[in-house]
Amino acid sequence: MSRYAKPALEKIAPYVPGEQPQDRSYVKLNTNESPFPPSPKAQAYAANALERLQLYPDPECTLLVRSMADSLGLEPENVLLSNGSDEILFQAFSAFCDKDRPAVFPDISYGFYSVYAEFLGIPYREIPLMEDFSIRPEDYYGAGGTIFIANPNAPTALALDPDAVESIVMNNPDSVVVIDEAYMDFCGTSAVPLTKKYDNLLVVQTFSKSRSMAGARLGMGFADAGLIGDLKKAKYSMNPYNVNSATLAAGLGAWEDTEYTRMIVETVKANREYTAGALKELGFRMTESRTNFLFVSHPALSGGDLYRRLKGKGILVRHFDKPRIDDYVRVTVGSREEMDSLLEAVRGILEET
Ligand code: PMP
Repeated sequence: MSRYAKPALEKIAPYVPGEQPQDRSYVKLNTNESPFPPSPKAQAYAANALERLQLYPDPECTLLVRSMADSLGLEPENVLLSNGSDEILFQAFSAFCDKDRPAVFPDISYGFYSVYAEFLGIPYREIPLMEDFSIRPEDYYGAGGTIFIANPNAPTALALDPDAVESIVMNNPDSVVVIDEAYMDFCGTSAVPLTKKYDNLLVVQTFSKSRSMAGARLGMGFADAGLIGDLKKAKYSMNPYNVNSATLAAGLGAWEDTEYTRMIVETVKANREYTAGALKELGFRMTESRTNFLFVSHPALSGGDLYRRLKGKGILVRHFDKPRIDDYVRVTVGSREEMDSLLEAVRGILEET
């Protein structure tokens, strides 16, 4: 810290992103990226957009917003795009939380929720997951604050069913409920249709996973026009040009190329089942994943040990040094070849143990 920083900054423990090593090529299974390149259509649209980089992007993201609204049966006023879904989550913390509207989220969930709350000076309450890492919907009824739930949850990989999500929204009529659906495509059910029925529901999704665009930074939110208007106020108070032209163009190509997204999702799901089966045979325990990652532990190895030894063999996974989950590692589901490299490394480690 420099002597110029405000004292409050010192107290903040920022989010620690998964390692993005530039030094050697790892089998990279630590940040839930897609093993595939973006759709060829996304790449072609982005290449065209590069010729117009002298101009600011369209702050309303009109073409892509309209295309999304049309295919989801919504109006453009129900859709907002952002610089990754992280940004729309930040906007939601900024717009919907304060001391009278504390943030409420599970004790084990996406690490950014507590970081945003702390950074913005917002009080927050963490609700413990059940012993099996599931969320009990009743724990969130009348929560008295703005609720953030990742569904499916990360890093647990478990999903709530749509009725449970609706019950949480219904039982918090005076609060905003944010459902973070970063991994929705690998699960198959979404709360987006509920946004037509409830004006307190914001659903957040991303192009980072099933659309292979983590590097482009594109996220989106779906909600009643009232909530989208509030988020736009936050957006236009921070960075109106938050989605750059190349990303916007790539996003339109990816959104239109539904067949390519379907191929990614189906391949990843097949590789997930393949890897889960093989790891179970090797004695691993895991949650039932509805995402593009597996949350696994082994009785003979601590999570930290497994993480370090896999890294030593050139395989990067994610370990969270946190109570209740420090026995686990989170493994992104990649290509079949990457999964075979993982399994080979795991077999080697178990033999050495
Ligand atoms: N929500 C959850 C639950 C996530 O795991 C992530 C990132 N891995 C995000 C949101 C943010 O994704 P992005 O900013 O890339 O859209």
